[in-house]
This record gives sequence, C-alpha cells and structure tokens, in this order.
Amino acid sequence: MSDKIEFGNLTIEISQSDSEVIYRFVGDVDEHFRQKDVPRIKKPNITFLLEEINNFNSCGIREWIYLIRDIGEFGKLKFTRCSVTMIDQINMVPDSLGKGYVESFYAPYFCQCGGEVNRLIDVTANLGQLQNKQAPEFKCESCNKTLEFDALEESYFLFAEGALPKAS
Ligand SMILES: [Zn+2]
Repeated sequence: MSDKIEFGNLTIEISQSDSEVIYRFVGDVDEHFRQKDVPRIKKPNITFLLEEINNFNSCGIREWIYLIRDIGEFGKLKFTRCSVTMIDQINMVPDSLGKGYVESFYAPYFCQCGGEVNRLIDVTANLGQLQNKQAPEFKCESCNKTLEFDALEESYFLFAEGALPKAS
C-alpha cells in the first residue's frame, strides 16, 4: 500500500507494512508545505526516509517542527539516510528532530584526486567516533587514498550528542 502527496516543490511518498510506516521526502520544505495535510498513521515504527530532502526555508521549518512533534506521538520515530542538508538543518535547529533519532546519514568527503562524494554513515556502528566528533574513514573509490572530511567535524556531528538511539 502506498500513497503520494505533493506540496509545490515537495513530494511525500507513504508506504506501510504491519509494523512500520515509511514517509519518503523528496524536494524542498518551503511555504507550500502544509503539515496538517500529512496523514498520521499509527504504527509501532515511523520512518522518515530523507536522502532526497533538500532545502528548508523558514516557513517550511516551522511546519516541519509541528509535524515532527505531532507525528512522534503515533509511534517510534526515526530518521534514516538523512541528506547533508537535513543534518545541517538538525544541527542548526535541534527541534527539527523532535523525539526522533538519526539512524543513518550522509556526510561530505573529498579526495585529493578531485573526487567529491557523500558517504552514508550508520550511527550505531560509528557511535564512539561520532560522539568524539571524528569523521569515520573511507577510501576513495577511484584512487584508494583516504578521503578527507569536507565539513567541520565539531559542528557536523553535533546532532550525535543528543540524537542517539536509546540503548535497547
Ligand atoms: Zn581519489
């Protein structure tokens, strides 16, 4: 079962199974976004798939915070495959996360050979490093050198302090 809603520059695809509802966000969260029109679906797990979420503007972020606050009441909320923009947003406005936690996210890297790449990082698997504000190491796929992290570790991994999954 899947469904789609559109708000100007943003599309939200909703799919669900017995225990989980997945909201996939594609595009910009801006003045066209109306959080009230996003269907609330009660499931044990609520997953926001955020690899294709783009820019937020101030109207969009206000609506987003309302959405997150409310939707977190319907199930356990997690953010997965967060885009770099999403992580910047969470770091600037921690309320963007609400009761949710980040399961995995993209981080920007570059190589001396000229390559730029966003690498997917699993929070649980890299917990210690992230809490110490150290970027996990990756090798360049073209030249095999160690990639350089392309942001400030202190600020990019800020969200990891408070946003980690509860120990189970
Ligand atoms: Zn390289």
